[in-house]
Amino acid sequence: MLELPVLSASPDSPPAFRWDDWYSGVGGRTIHVPEVQEYLHKIQTEQYPRCEGTAASVRREFGTPEEAAAHIKEKAVEFGADAVGICLIEPSDLYRGRSITETHAIAIAMRMRWRAFQTVPSREAAIECMRIYYDLGETVIRLAEYIRSIGYDCSVEHPIGDSNLLHIPIALKSGFGELGRHGSVIHPRLGPLFRMGSIATSLPMATDSPIDAGIAAFCDKCRACRIYCPAGAIPDQRSPEAGKDHLGNDRYQVDTGRCFPYFATHYYCSACLPVCVYHHKEWARDFDGYETKLFPNVVMDPPPQPFDGVPKESRHSFTKVKRD
Ligand code: SF4
Ligand code: SF4
Repeated sequence: MLELPVLSASPDSPPAFRWDDWYSGVGGRTIHVPEVQEYLHKIQTEQYPRCEGTAASVRREFGTPEEAAAHIKEKAVEFGADAVGICLIEPSDLYRGRSITETHAIAIAMRMRWRAFQTVPSREAAIECMRIYYDLGETVIRLAEYIRSIGYDCSVEHPIGDSNLLHIPIALKSGFGELGRHGSVIHPRLGPLFRMGSIATSLPMATDSPIDAGIAAFCDKCRACRIYCPAGAIPDQRSPEAGKDHLGNDRYQVDTGRCFPYFATHYYCSACLPVCVYHHKEWARDFDGYETKLFPNVVMDPPPQPFDGVPKESRHSFTKVKRD
């Protein structure tokens, strides 16, 4: 059998998030929402077994990588994606210690329902966070099944899961947008309120390029997420030690030790996403026609004590995006 070349993570890659350590440091998992548990159960029992599969023995051949990329993107949209991009996988895109045999990542985004974020943090927002993982998981798995059906191996990076790939650099390289002050990617059309999953495959496809839509520059003037972060975790200034974004800017570094205790005790918080002023006008009708407010109510409870128990070298941080 043909040995596939293995791509290993860069020694500078960040470690995967140590959820159990973080939770045990803040008193355990205390958020109990039955709908969240139900989605989680369905993801584990219905979707995880479908993430693996074997490619068909007969391959569909494409005339050019551009043709292949266009076809795969069309299929992703057919299966429910709101945005699709493609990039080559580099060692810095893998979590520390991970390896992969595929060459290309297909990044897939799905927008979240603005109507669920009218009050944040809230039970509704927590349910929406899990609903999107399920629906996006379905889109990613269906696309993976399709890719296998035309004769190409692929692996699924489930949006909720312990993935090999770092979603943020994959998103930036695939042209999804720019990195916001709140540490999430802002898409020029979808804003920041979306989630991402991906597929790794060696199907030869044309790749996309990072974009400069002026979003990062806008963040330097706007401070809405910093002002409305109840935990005071979002910085005022960019940090040279946090590495660069793809435009060469020093990154903003969110203080996880402040964010996590609030996140873990307030319905997974997420307030920084709906308060982000980027593209609120587009959300006034919640894409599907539901009337909504332009700005959410934010529950600004006094934050719990910061937690710094997870050693710095084991803390999840986003990879330092390289600048070509
Ligand atoms: S999730 Fe909440 S606590 Fe964390 S950075 Fe965003 S707004 Fe702040
Ligand atoms: S709220 Fe403003 S500063 Fe924060 S990420 Fe959005 S645009 Fe950038």
